Amino acid sequence: MQSKKRIKAIGVAVALIVATLLAGCAQTPAATAKAAFKAGTYTASAKGMGGDVKVSVTFSATDIVSVKVDQHNETPGVGDAAIKTIPGKIVQGQTLNVDVVAGASISSKAILAAVEECVKKAGGDVAALKAKKIAAAAKAADVTETADVVIIGAGGAGLAAAVTAHQAGSSVIVLEKMPKVGGNTIISGAAYNSADPARQALSPAEAGPEATIQALIAAKPASDLHAQMQAQLKKEYEAYKAAGSKGLFDSPTLHALQTYEGGDRVGDLVLIKNYTSKTLDGVKWLESLNMKFTDTCFTVLGALWQRSHKPVKPLGTGYIEAYTTYLSANKVPVMLETTAKKVIMKNGRAVGVEAVGPTGNKITINAKKGVIIATGGFSKNIEMRQKYNKHWKTLDTSIMSTNHPGATGDGIVLGEAVGADLVGMEWIQLLPMGDPQTGSLSGNIEQGVEDRIFVNKQGNRFVDEGARRDVMTNALFQQEGATMWVVLDKHSYPTGDTKNNFNETIDELVAAGRAYKADTIEALAAQIKVPAANLAKAVADFNANVDAKTKDAFGRTLYSHKIDTAPYYAGARVPTVHHTMGGVKVNTDCQVIDKSGKIIAGLYAAGEVTGGLHGSNRLGGNALADTVVNGRIAGTSAAAAK
Ligand SMILES: Cc1cc2nc3c(=O)[nH]c(=O)nc-3n(C[C@H](O)[C@H](O)[C@H](O)COP(=O)(O)OP(=O)(O)OC[C@H]3O[C@@H](n4cnc5c(N)ncnc54)[C@H](O)[C@@H]3O)c2cc1C
Repeated sequence: MQSKKRIKAIGVAVALIVATLLAGCAQTPAATAKAAFKAGTYTASAKGMGGDVKVSVTFSATDIVSVKVDQHNETPGVGDAAIKTIPGKIVQGQTLNVDVVAGASISSKAILAAVEECVKKAGGDVAALKAKKIAAAAKAADVTETADVVIIGAGGAGLAAAVTAHQAGSSVIVLEKMPKVGGNTIISGAAYNSADPARQALSPAEAGPEATIQALIAAKPASDLHAQMQAQLKKEYEAYKAAGSKGLFDSPTLHALQTYEGGDRVGDLVLIKNYTSKTLDGVKWLESLNMKFTDTCFTVLGALWQRSHKPVKPLGTGYIEAYTTYLSANKVPVMLETTAKKVIMKNGRAVGVEAVGPTGNKITINAKKGVIIATGGFSKNIEMRQKYNKHWKTLDTSIMSTNHPGATGDGIVLGEAVGADLVGMEWIQLLPMGDPQTGSLSGNIEQGVEDRIFVNKQGNRFVDEGARRDVMTNALFQQEGATMWVVLDKHSYPTGDTKNNFNETIDELVAAGRAYKADTIEALAAQIKVPAANLAKAVADFNANVDAKTKDAFGRTLYSHKIDTAPYYAGARVPTVHHTMGGVKVNTDCQVIDKSGKIIAGLYAAGEVTGGLHGSNRLGGNALADTVVNGRIAGTSAAAAK
């Protein structure tokens, strides 16, 4: 049952957003002088994330009357935050001096550039409109509210927890510091690892090398639990072989042991076992919220096995849409631009959160049952990266990041302030897949591990492209300019309008000069300026191994198609900071543990803010499943708290 208070809280949330919009658009007295335009409607376009953003702007002789975004291909839930807010701010403020929406900056800039073009066409004074400052918003009144469960962070883990806690009958308030929900989850490649008998029945048995399974079974056990799990895997694999199954072997036990070994046995096997035993439930739960996955699994970079589930909707929008649809239907408030600053403790128990609202006002949310920290990682916090890094030469500003701007490790600081123990903080994951200009994953042309190779500037392969992420990134750092080319063919892009995992078609990427396309390997080599003979040999050697399906000179074992069908494509990539494996220590109920090993009553954490699951290296595709599995556990635990 949701109380009147919750309804009031929704009102507060909405009021806060509206207040931000209106107050944000108040003008300074000096800015009210009327501009002069040639009245009429003008159109222009500028490049956004997904191609051209087309706007039409109507002017009277004195005012910008309306700004409309007529056409765009920006990703729902990502770029459209800018499309919803920037036009209104331009009109209300009669200005081009509008802040970009954090996390949607490319879309924001595209709208502003296109409107600027229209102002020029209308004979307006662009410089004056750009100089026209918007007055700071008046400070709104302080707010105090109460809910059963208060969640900090509206990314994947926070929203999964919110839905679950609400499904369990609790009232919930979610606080989100950014102007939009989704965090890293919404911009992610969205691959979700789980053993899944139905989907993996469609993968060929040979997609999973037997040697990998035998090595996991034969490894010297680190604990009794480890030995038990090895024996369990042996039993499962023998049963699979005895059944003569044609599909790919997999199980939560194999997933757990790959996660454990893939993280150098640094992770907590108890947490890992609990997690892999619930990933398939997570898929089914998402499907119950109307989220759809494709019928087959693939191997996302660094996943080591063909168990990555691919959502039908682009990027991580499918997850966030499923959650927000549920939350808005059930009127669960999500307070945007509200930054948690402190977990309130009373008699050793977490009883609420103190936050700062959009206008600098104080927001206090009391929690009757529990507080869940779900603030994500710290890949965008250079100071924290440098403070905790032990394994990379440097993680200063010279290394970019794939993350959204809000990934600044706030939850780790909030947890530490109330005594939470931290684990694995030194383990920071880099990917070899960053865009050379921005470090983001956009423009990454790989579709899955099996069908592409990496070559350096000499056109030579240099690493097992199915290896762990740290192995591949370390190898990339050794190459000239720490830059490589991803090379693949028509098998990955049957048509020009086939999209990558980041909602971009290959034709768009080629047109934008972010990928190269040629009819022969030699012509591709000429375009990307690598020696043609080397590239041809790299491809021929790879193709021979696809036929042989044996371990190649770099140790590669994952193959599907040869690279032998035009058109051929290449895209450049560099190292980039991607994920922080360390964080707040939790148990299998997602209760936060303090430095003396005791549970901090009323305090829970889930998602990338926690440590202990991934060990020294996270397997690709394991984080999204973490947000769902542990977000749900945190929501259930908090809702059940007395
Ligand atoms: C480009 C990219 C691609 C990826 N692809 C994959 C993939 O294919 N598969 C996979 O498994 N993993 C992938 N990952 C990793 C995965 O997306 C993240 O680990 C995961 O989404 C983190 O979820 P989360 O809920 O813990 O944090 P987030 O989704 O980042 O959400 C945390 C939220 O908390 C908010 N917040 C932070 N501090 C505060 C505060 N003080 N007050 C209020 N709110 C706050 C943030 O603004 C954010 O909205 C990818 C990551 C990136 C960046």
